[in-house]
Amino acid sequence: MLMLFTAACVGPAATPAADGSFAVHFIDVGQADAALVVCDGQTMLIDGGNREDSSLIYTYLKDENVTHLDYVVATHAHEDHIGGLPGALNYATVGTALCSVTEYDSGVFETFVEQLAKQGKQIQVPKAGDSFELGSAKVQVVGPVRQSDDPNNMSLVLRIEYGETSFLFTGDAEREEEQNILEAGFDLESTVLKVGHHGSENSTTYPFLREVMPEYAVISVGEGNSYGHPTPESLSRLRDAGATILRTDENGTIICTSDGETVSFVTESGWAEENQAQEGKGMEYVLNNGANKFHDPDCESVDTIKPQNLGSFFGTREELLARGYSPCGNCKP
Ligand SMILES: [Zn+2]
Ligand SMILES: [Zn+2]
Repeated sequence: MLMLFTAACVGPAATPAADGSFAVHFIDVGQADAALVVCDGQTMLIDGGNREDSSLIYTYLKDENVTHLDYVVATHAHEDHIGGLPGALNYATVGTALCSVTEYDSGVFETFVEQLAKQGKQIQVPKAGDSFELGSAKVQVVGPVRQSDDPNNMSLVLRIEYGETSFLFTGDAEREEEQNILEAGFDLESTVLKVGHHGSENSTTYPFLREVMPEYAVISVGEGNSYGHPTPESLSRLRDAGATILRTDENGTIICTSDGETVSFVTESGWAEENQAQEGKGMEYVLNNGANKFHDPDCESVDTIKPQNLGSFFGTREELLARGYSPCGNCKP
C-alpha cells in the first residue's frame, strides 16, 4: 500500500524561504521516540530512541549527511528518549542541547551529559514561551509549564511553524501536562501531531485534541510492545478528531515534508512496495540540489537553478521524497 497524503492547511502565514525546504523524519526506533527535523539545511534531533538504537541513529545521520545538529532535544530523561542520543553525538557536532532537567539519576542520562561535555556543551533548560528559529521555521517551547514529579509530565513540548503548516512534538506528556499547557493559552493548532507517550491512554485527551486539531497524528511505537500502546482509547479519540493516523510499528520510518502550504508523507512500508511496483518504471525529473527540490522538466523555475545545483533523476516521485527532496510548489510534480 502506498501511503501518500497531502493536506491543504490554513493558519497564520509565516514566510518560508522561496527555495526553502522542510522535513520531519520520524525514525522507526520501536517502542521509543526519535525525530529529525531539517529546515533550510538546519537540523534538530528530538529524542534518539533507546540505548540500543545508538548505532541506528548514528547510521541515519550518516546516511542523511547530517554532520552538525543545530539542536539536540531530549524531551525528558527516560531511556526510550535519550538512550540513543550518544549515537548522534558520536557522529554529529551539536550547537545547543535542550532538556527539561539537567540532572537525573540514571546511567543513561549520565552518559548523555558526558557525551555533551566532550563537545564542551551543557544542557540548556528552556522555559515555556521561549522560541527560536530553525532555518525559516519557528520553534516555540510550549511545555512544561509547571514542575512535575513525573518525568513524562516534564516533557519538553515543541510547536514548529513552517509557513502555514505546523507540527507539535509532545514527548511523553500526559493529561497533567496537557492540562497545564491548555491553561497557559498557547496556540496549539497543528497540522501534524507527534502523539504523546506512544499513544498511552493517559495522553491525547479530548480537551487537548480540540485545541491541536491535527490533520495527521504520528505514533512512535514498537510492534507488540508490552504496554499495549497505542491504546484503543487514544486511537479512537484521534479518529474522533478526524486525524489520519500513521504509526512507526506499521509504517516503519515516516518522512513528512512541507512546502509551507501542504504536507505530504512517505513511509518506509510505502516506498518499499512502491519501489517494487515501479521497478523499471519512472520518469525524468530535474533536481535542484541546493534547495533539495525536484521539478517537472518543463517547469519555468528550472531555468533559474544555479548550474552547480542542477541535477537530473530518472525514477519515481516516491524515491525522490524518500531521498529528502520535496516537490516544487509551482509545477507540483
Ligand atoms: Zn517514551
Ligand atoms: Zn517517558
